[in-house]
Amino acid sequence: MPKLESVKRKIIKFGKLLYQKNLVAANNGNISRRLDKNRIMITPSGVSLGFLKEHELVITDIDGNVMKGALEPSSEIQAHLTIYQNRNDVKSVCHAHPIFATVFAVSKTSINSPILTEVVINLGKIAEVEYAVPGSDELSQQILGHLQEHDTFLLANHGVITVGDSLTSAYQNMETVEHFAQIRYYSNQLSDLKVLDRAQIQDLEGLRNKFGVRENLNKYEK
Ligand SMILES: [Zn+2]
Repeated sequence: MPKLESVKRKIIKFGKLLYQKNLVAANNGNISRRLDKNRIMITPSGVSLGFLKEHELVITDIDGNVMKGALEPSSEIQAHLTIYQNRNDVKSVCHAHPIFATVFAVSKTSINSPILTEVVINLGKIAEVEYAVPGSDELSQQILGHLQEHDTFLLANHGVITVGDSLTSAYQNMETVEHFAQIRYYSNQLSDLKVLDRAQIQDLEGLRNKFGVRENLNKYEK
């Protein structure tokens, strides 16, 4: 079980990074960390991730009942809870509205294209989650449909959710999605893209074991 003080410090550190790197604006976005089987720590509703204080973080049980904290938990807590309830390996969930990834979330152009080796190996395809109201049960259900095979989720007309086995990995998946989305966006201005072919993709997916990537992560081409 992680130490509470260290979880608080890390949530504040990654909240600042999300804000400073322009991955969220105003009081958007939220971060959570599993504390044990029945408890999570999550950022509060209505506070900018760039200016969080330790005492503002909220502890809830796995059903979202507040156990500690003066503020309300994030209004998007339901998606976090659904993920923790259905993926034991997930220790942290990160939600943000990064600009380039969200450009794809508002476009009918798919964010997915096998153009970057590390993304094919470590993320595979980003789950493209259909539109649902933020914080709704419907959104949780949409995520659930993609949950076992994906660690990154593009929410239509909204933003991105990433998960990981630590706060660091959930945060890094968010950075990777946005970095990839920027490259994909700019590369679209060129006409002669070198898209990886099926054999190249399969070679890369064959490296997953060596890179410590979990076994049931989605494959780019089935
Ligand atoms: Zn949001």
